[in-house]
Amino acid sequence: MGYVKGLKCRECARPYPTKPLHVCEFCFGPLEVDYDYEAIGRIVNRRAIEAGPPNIWRYRPLLPIEGEAVVGRYCGFTPLVRARNLGKALGLTNLYVKNDTVNHPTLSFKDRVVAVAVIKALEFGFPVVACASTGNLANSVAAHAAEGGLTSFVFIPADLEQGKVLGTSIYASNVVAVEGTYDEVNRLCSEVADKYGWAFVNINIRPYYAEGSKTFGYEIAEQLGWRAPDHIIVPAAGGSLITKVWKGLQEFHRLGLLPTVSTRMHVAQAAGCGPIVNAVKAGSEVIRPVKQPRTIAKSLAIGNPADGYYAFKVVKDSGGTGEHATDDEIVECMKMLAATEGIFAETAGGVTLAATRKLVQQGVIGRDDVTVISVTGNGLKTQEAVAGALRVPTSIKPSLTSFDAALAQLPPVSGGSGPPRDS
Ligand SMILES: *Cc1c(COP(=O)(O)O)cnc(C)c1O
Ligand SMILES: [Zn+2]
Repeated sequence: MGYVKGLKCRECARPYPTKPLHVCEFCFGPLEVDYDYEAIGRIVNRRAIEAGPPNIWRYRPLLPIEGEAVVGRYCGFTPLVRARNLGKALGLTNLYVKNDTVNHPTLSFKDRVVAVAVIKALEFGFPVVACASTGNLANSVAAHAAEGGLTSFVFIPADLEQGKVLGTSIYASNVVAVEGTYDEVNRLCSEVADKYGWAFVNINIRPYYAEGSKTFGYEIAEQLGWRAPDHIIVPAAGGSLITKVWKGLQEFHRLGLLPTVSTRMHVAQAAGCGPIVNAVKAGSEVIRPVKQPRTIAKSLAIGNPADGYYAFKVVKDSGGTGEHATDDEIVECMKMLAATEGIFAETAGGVTLAATRKLVQQGVIGRDDVTVISVTGNGLKTQEAVAGALRVPTSIKPSLTSFDAALAQLPPVSGGSGPPRDS
């Protein structure tokens, strides 16, 4: 059993039953899951959470499922990496990377939302799960559908990275490549959802799906020793993750798990598709859609973000800001994260690091502030982005003389002093 009271309209607060609904019939506002926080408060405390499993289900009372976690049992509780090398490079003494490049099973934060959504689809009795995806969602829906014995239909823009396409097809999913932008894919999917009655995780069961993202924020706070950081930088596509990380911190505060939350939430997007950052910079709550996204950060290329307005509000309410990243900066920062911390992030990680670097340069993030960079996906899925920008392997004959000659051409060997430590 769960602690869900039902759904509630974010705009007019009208209540709805726990059904596959997503928009308010009266004001067209988005619906959100509503919990019985009093009952949750009676069973949830730090010790109870710490005694839970090392995955998102340690926060089970705060997630909208009724029965067992029948799929996605190993998702979450990814490392919060103390990033000393990267901190040194940026001039920060308290830097962390929340590393969802190693989230189970499909190596992005999307497993958090899909684990919840697919369980919910099973609870509602849907035979088919589906999604409109910029890539990572496709991988995750296909994998969880396979695990749950459901048929999956995955709709993607036709120009996605090879790794994202292959990493979906492997699960025997029905992959539909649509010649169009993500927004066109999404519009089509709304019609397919209506006509065929399938569970589109990010459309008709979106209120449940989105709750999974809260765990990204819960984990950051718990892994920092039950403390909210000063800054979290979050990449945004539809704007759901940043909204839900904030909601998660607020819930922890409400439940007495965090004494204070004064975290400033910063949004990161690509320069070629940054409608939320554009709004933040303009100081206007009107999100102007980007018609033709142009960026190598395809996972973030949503021109008309469903939760853009709420993401904007979170940034404003928390005292945060936003920054863009150009394609060159994305590649440079993917390499920088790998070279400093040994973390190979996808393009979205490059976006987030590039934005963070700008916020440090602008003085928004102070030297000793506790700062968390959200790294949400794995670089092996977006190899095209960096393929032409890396040193090629040194080719030699299988002989020591050939190696000696090659070595003379390489940069001198240095290092050996080990990683920096806190003094
Ligand atoms: C989907 C995605 C995001 C953004 O998520 P939203 O909730 O749509 O804002 C960030 N990073 C990666 C790698 C993603 O796949
Ligand atoms: Zn309403």
